[in-house]
Amino acid sequence: MSEIIWKIIFMIMWVCSGLIRLPHGKKYKKTEKIKANKISREKFLVFLVAIGVMIIPMIYVFSQWLNSFNMNLPDWARWSGVAAFGFGLILFWRVHKTLGKNWSPILEIRKDHKLITEGPYKYIRHPMYTMLWIWVICQWLILSNWIVGIMGILTWSILYFVRLPEEEKMMIEEFGQQYKDYMRKTKKIIPWVY
Ligand code: SAH
Repeated sequence: MSEIIWKIIFMIMWVCSGLIRLPHGKKYKKTEKIKANKISREKFLVFLVAIGVMIIPMIYVFSQWLNSFNMNLPDWARWSGVAAFGFGLILFWRVHKTLGKNWSPILEIRKDHKLITEGPYKYIRHPMYTMLWIWVICQWLILSNWIVGIMGILTWSILYFVRLPEEEKMMIEEFGQQYKDYMRKTKKIIPWVY
């Protein structure tokens, strides 16, 4: 299949993820935050991920500059990426709906913050991060390019491994025993596994 078709498929999915996030981004700006952890570091991590999941894929889609790093993956691998990304988008929508106004792009506690333990949160504590893992793997598969793949995985891993322990520490400080009990009943990003 022609490269342009893969680029169009990827762009449609990319725009869908933006549309899912858009209303939550707007609500986020309006709600009051009562505690924020390491704001500058968090903003820097988000910026890094934006390079890996927005800027680099867009350079690939709209220019020829990264073409020498193409991997020529077989179509079945690229279609698997499309299917998994589709699943990831449904998860993304569901997670945003469940987390509601408790969502934040950085580490923050909002006014009237509630601990969410239902929906996807019943099985894993970080379903949104599961979606981001699916995203970076799928953009690698769909666009079939070394730079797109490696930069996505690298920038996302940095945020994930730096933020996760801090996020759980913040949640324990805020919700105490309730969060510790919740941790005992759930896994991080893969139900029943990890
Ligand atoms: N790590 C979660 C949430 C990502 S958004 C996930 O992957 O789904 C990050 C914000 O969500 C954090 O600032 C924290 O305040 C909030 N948060 C994380 N887990 C939460 C939960 N179970 N209930 C309510 N808020 C949560």
